[in-house]
Amino acid sequence: MAKLQAIRGMHDILMQDTHRWQFTEKTIAHVLKQFGYQEIRLPIVEYTDLFTRSIGDHTDIVTKEMYCFDDRNESSLTLRPEGTAGCVRAGIEHGLFYNQTQRLWYQGPMFRHERPQKGRQRQFHQIGVEAFGFNGPDVDAEMILMCAHLWQLFGIKLELEINSLGTTESRNNYRKQLVNYFSKHRNALDKESLIRLENNPLRILDSKNPDLQSVIQSAPMLSDYLDEESALHFEELCGVLDSAGIDYKVNPRLVRGLDYYGKTVFEWITSELGAQGTVCAGGRYDGLVELHGARPTPAVGFAIGMERLIELINEDIIDNHQAPHIYLIIASETGMQAGLLLADKLRKSNPDLRVMTHLGAGSIKSQFKKADKSGAKYALILGDEEINNNSISVKDLRGDQPQQSMNYPELENFLDKI
Ligand code: ATP
Ligand code: MG
Repeated sequence: MAKLQAIRGMHDILMQDTHRWQFTEKTIAHVLKQFGYQEIRLPIVEYTDLFTRSIGDHTDIVTKEMYCFDDRNESSLTLRPEGTAGCVRAGIEHGLFYNQTQRLWYQGPMFRHERPQKGRQRQFHQIGVEAFGFNGPDVDAEMILMCAHLWQLFGIKLELEINSLGTTESRNNYRKQLVNYFSKHRNALDKESLIRLENNPLRILDSKNPDLQSVIQSAPMLSDYLDEESALHFEELCGVLDSAGIDYKVNPRLVRGLDYYGKTVFEWITSELGAQGTVCAGGRYDGLVELHGARPTPAVGFAIGMERLIELINEDIIDNHQAPHIYLIIASETGMQAGLLLADKLRKSNPDLRVMTHLGAGSIKSQFKKADKSGAKYALILGDEEINNNSISVKDLRGDQPQQSMNYPELENFLDKI
């Protein structure tokens, strides 16, 4: 039989790591709530068509990264490669964009068939944030401030790059200039860029191939073709960032891998993770809701790559108190029931208390070994004598205090202080 193992690029998150995830998710959920965002929970599988239409036929995601399969009734389904498309679908389906604004967020696994490497998996996790119905640069700015707020809480430093992709018209105009330019420099392009020249020329600017950097550097810049409205929007955004004291770099070659972005785009980048340095990426996608046949609705959003973020967070700031405070040793052959009830009572009267009850009987010596291994600070010992006189023995497992006997009020008092 073949060795039992997970699918390549899809990882278990084991017990020693889940506390990092819980801490990070909890902190982000809290900040999102502070900013008035509400959680929406979306299916992991959608009709394939939703993604091909939303993300764009010529993007990497659609051409080579999606996990598609035929359902039993032969409709083509896809494991979501990102969350925006599903969020827009849900918003339209439930009339969430009708005469109202929405601030939404979601989290969960995303799936892309990429070459697994550090910071790049086939199942990875995102927290995505989307705002619908807001036209102006204020919401773009608010999202960026919210990110900055988070990085500060996590004690990490990320670099912010921003750009404006303009309106569809100004982008089309620019695209023509770009095709013109790169067509003249065909010889300098690699295979992938030659394909992009045909179907998604802006993405050539995003190429990570070092051999292409000089031809990219000399390419015409989108900022020179930007329409007035987008230029003003961008200027106002920069104004807010300046006054908030947020450092940023305008990167005129920053584009996004998905077709639906226009106007503001931004990325938060680190140099600590090697090539996979983008931790969070987002921007405006004012045309997407209309593309799906609903009323035009301005929209902006971003997604955080959770694996990359968590990798950066220092263990020191993570609340990692998992070991029990108390390990309850049952030193009476008939004490199982009394032990379970006592532990239950202690947890109820002190909701922050972590009490691990010894299960499966065994000698006192072996129970003490388990107590020690559990990391608990104290062992409570419940023997026949304690049961008979309503007391409990307390042993400090980490210090040299002698064992003490207490009655229940004394115990409650004692536990309140640990
Ligand atoms: P990249 O250029 O790294 O491929 P992308 O443009 O495909 O990124 P987005 O679709 O914008 O990425 O996704 C937002 C974020 O999700 C990324 O910035 C990254 O942090 C994370 N992410 C994307 N793909 C992966 C992956 N395969 N494994 C881990 N994290 C990922
Ligand atoms: Mg990608």
